[in-house]
This record gives sequence, structure tokens and C-alpha cells, in this order.
Amino acid sequence: MIGRRRAGAMADLGLRLRAVTDNISGAAARRPRELPAVAPRLVAVGKTKPASLMIEAYHHGQRHFGENYVQELVEKASDSQILSLCPEIKWHFIGHLQKNNVNKLMATPNLFMIETIDSIKLADKVNVSWQKKQAAGRLKVMVQVNTSEEDSKHGMSAADTLSTVSHIVDHCPGLEFVGLMTIGRYGYDLSEGPNPDFQVLAARRRELCSKLNLPLEAVELSMGMSTDYEHAIEVGATSVRVGSVIFGERTYPNKPNPGKEPEAEGVGERVAA
Ligand SMILES: *Cc1c(COP(=O)(O)O)cnc(C)c1O
Repeated sequence: MIGRRRAGAMADLGLRLRAVTDNISGAAARRPRELPAVAPRLVAVGKTKPASLMIEAYHHGQRHFGENYVQELVEKASDSQILSLCPEIKWHFIGHLQKNNVNKLMATPNLFMIETIDSIKLADKVNVSWQKKQAAGRLKVMVQVNTSEEDSKHGMSAADTLSTVSHIVDHCPGLEFVGLMTIGRYGYDLSEGPNPDFQVLAARRRELCSKLNLPLEAVELSMGMSTDYEHAIEVGATSVRVGSVIFGERTYPNKPNPGKEPEAEGVGERVAA
């Protein structure tokens, strides 16, 4: 019984992943020509889901995975099964990062990118911590932009984005600036037109590229989640972070979990209801 149900769930995961990657290709083909013709990356977001599901997705060809809690990321990335069965796995940290958690995050095996740099001080801390590790190569980072200018959201205001990116490029030799990321407001209704958060992020990129004299291709846009990743790609996303339509809806226990500091790190979480 349990074996059959599990086998069914595994097949479903493969089908759902396939549907998402097909939708991504379709959306990329619909992009206007003035946008860089890069193949968008799918970051599969597995928060709250067990490592066994990440391994399944890996077997179906998925390589990029995202987590938004430091503790959960370190645990999954260090899981002995993941380490032995998923040697090419690439982890993205996509949650709010507190400075006192940076060293812990740096211990993540196969850490590929931090998408949520939201201050110069945090960039400096990550830079020093990465260099202390004496890891090979630079760590890829994105700067998180608060496109909706809501106080409750983490990320840089428009004005601070340029100075932060310049700082990373000029003063953080351990880091490689690769793009801009936004979470955006929750529950935007696409029937009202293009998502303004995505428009703002694309505009930030145009400004940044003209001020720093960079080609648009050199700056990625990480935007779009389960409900809107196709639209995000149509308006320029090069990386989408998709969780529930791949791994299923998340369920959260009602009791608080002191080890995870949900208020502090879980601000990216918007689907808890
Ligand atoms: C959870 C999360 C996602 C994925 O959300 P889904 O709606 O499940 O696709 C994407 N980005 C961030 C920052 C998240 O925290």
C-alpha cells in the first residue's frame, strides 16, 4: 500500500517537474526580442519538504534547489543521501539573511548562490566569511530589491540598489554579482495587467546596466513563483523560484519553532495560509 502510494507520488513529481520545465520553455519562446535570449533557470524550492523529494527531483534532472531558512538549508545540503546521490546539486539561498547567520550559511555544501543580499554591510560580511573559507572561486550573489516599497519586505530601495551593486563589484573580491532578485507583493491579480514588481525590477536592471556600462545579459533577474513564473519569464526573468506546483502545497505546524526564527527569516514565505 504505502509502497504503491509512494511510487505514485514519485511519478507525479516527475510529471509536475516536466510540466513546469515545458511551461518555462514556452514562456521563454514568447519573450519580446529586446530581452536577452537566455534559457531561464528553474530553482526548485523545497522548504518544509523532505530531502527524499529533492533527491527524486534530482533524479528527474533538476539541479538547482532553493531554501529560505539557513538551518533547513544546512541540514538538507549536508544530508548524507543528498551528498552521495546528488553530486551536482546547486543550492540557492533565497530567504532573509541575518548577519549572525552568515558563517553558518557558508558551511553549506554545494552552496551556489545567495539571492538575498540586502545591504552593504551584509555584502561585506558574506565577502569576508567566504574568503575565510578559502573556497575556490567567487560566490555568486544577487541583490534583493524591494520593488513594492512595502516596509514589511526585505530588500533595497531603488536608490540603494546601484550603490550596493557598485560596492560589491568594487570592494568584494570574494563575490560575483550576478543579478537582481525580488519577491514582490503577494496575490497580485495578473488580469489587471503586467505585475508592477516585475516591471520595477526590469527597470532597475536597465538603470544599473546603463550606469555601470554593463550589457543586459550580464545581470540576471530572479522573479516569479508558482503562480506567476510564466508571466515573469515573459517579462524578463532569467531565474524563477518555484515550490508548491512541483512539491505540493506546504503544511505548517501551528506551534512556534524557536530554532527557525520564522518572523526573522521567513519573510519570503507568503503561502503559509
Ligand atoms: C517559498 C518561496 C518561493 C516558492 O514559492 P511557491 O509559491 O511555492 O512557488 C519562492 N521564493 C521565495 C523567496 C520563497 O520563500
